[in-house]
Amino acid sequence: MKENDLIIIGAGASGLMAALSANENGIMPIILEKNNRIGKKILVTGNGRCNYTNVLLTKNDYNKPDFVEKVLSKFGPQETVDYFESLGIVPKIENDGKTYPMSEQASSFLDVFLYELNKRNIKIELNQAVMNITKNKDVFAINTVEGKKYFAKRVIFCVGGSSMPLTGSNGSGYEIVERLGHNITHIFPALVKLKLESPYLKQLSGVKINSQVDLMLDNEVIQSENGDILFTNYGISGPTILELSRKANELINLNKKPALKVILIQNVSKSKVIERFENAGEKEIGQGLIGLLNKRFINVLIKEAEIEKVNLLVNEIPKKNIYKLIDLLYDWRFVIKGSLGFEESQVTAGGINLDDVDNLTLESKIIKGLYFAGEILDIDGRCGGYNLQWAWSSGYVAGKRASKSDEND
Ligand SMILES: Cc1cc2nc3c(=O)[nH]c(=O)nc-3n(C[C@H](O)[C@H](O)[C@H](O)COP(=O)(O)OP(=O)(O)OC[C@H]3O[C@@H](n4cnc5c(N)ncnc54)[C@H](O)[C@@H]3O)c2cc1C
Repeated sequence: MKENDLIIIGAGASGLMAALSANENGIMPIILEKNNRIGKKILVTGNGRCNYTNVLLTKNDYNKPDFVEKVLSKFGPQETVDYFESLGIVPKIENDGKTYPMSEQASSFLDVFLYELNKRNIKIELNQAVMNITKNKDVFAINTVEGKKYFAKRVIFCVGGSSMPLTGSNGSGYEIVERLGHNITHIFPALVKLKLESPYLKQLSGVKINSQVDLMLDNEVIQSENGDILFTNYGISGPTILELSRKANELINLNKKPALKVILIQNVSKSKVIERFENAGEKEIGQGLIGLLNKRFINVLIKEAEIEKVNLLVNEIPKKNIYKLIDLLYDWRFVIKGSLGFEESQVTAGGINLDDVDNLTLESKIIKGLYFAGEILDIDGRCGGYNLQWAWSSGYVAGKRASKSDEND
């Protein structure tokens, strides 16, 4: 059987970009995808709006800045915006750099990819879950669960990580590349909601505030974020929390006990709050808190400050409990129990060890002719367009390099 020039495994963001970029070098790749459709995960990104890049991105928005730098310099946010604009996607750039399609529909990306793949006659084999790859002499043999066998001179392997397996990326890629001699670093969920230890979660579930949250280890601030948080019946979510979750899970993996410090009151000094209580001696304590913070916190905070009843007058409450209550407004700690796991995580931390991969070409240092792109690599970024950008950038570079003729290498 004649081998194909290039087979791309995985029709996610990185694989689709790799296919177009390779094709622009005159190659007709074949894409193998285990789902019955392409780009399933793209559809759920950015709450269905697809935050496809961040124009304020720097290499430091990733876990391995030095590795991503060269790839991003070849195809970064500006090139991405221009590239997709040439395919029809008009960018809508927000103040924080987050960029969406003007249509505000993630499905626009799928429509554009499908149109381009069709126009260029690029073949997609759906319902083909790759289970093994071997290389004999210069030819790769690829076996699928469905019993098909494909041959290729070069392969781009971009099957994603373990996050949100319902979209197809179920971690099946790690074993396949391990069998080819690559090392996989410890993988864990990142950009994920956190589970907290607290007796108050039921009462607080549904309360949303805009606040500062610090990730703490003992009394040291490890990371600090500002923005919306939402209490839930298992713990806490919101963009701020997703940002803190990677570091939190990293600490939990090291058997440490990180906590969140929630700062309920911002821009009002503690002395002003103390004065407020000094002037409210005849008020019930519950009433004394009205207007200062979300009402749903009041009963919980009073309990946490060990004040017996919400209808006690401020004057009737021992000073130490009033001070405890005030301290809680500025420093309320919750022990982090863990996270909701891969099912709910937006990205996988860890992956193919970068020591095994050339950072200029994304070719394996172990198996010549095998390239990687996207989340399968040990690269993850912050929340806000950075992970899709890595998928586009690495897909573009891998596609270009894997479609170069040997003479030009
Ligand atoms: C809910 C959610 C929201 C997100 N929102 C954003 C956002 O707004 N902005 C942002 O930058 N990032 C976002 N991300 C992250 C981003 O979507 C991913 O980092 C990115 O899609 C990874 O691209 P990828 O090509 O590496 O992998 P994937 O997109 O996961 O694609 C991998 C493909 O490979 C296929 N595959 C898997 N195993 C096999 C196999 N054995 N054989 C054949 N095919 C296989 C899968 O079916 C899948 O189609 C979000 C993620 C989630 C889960």
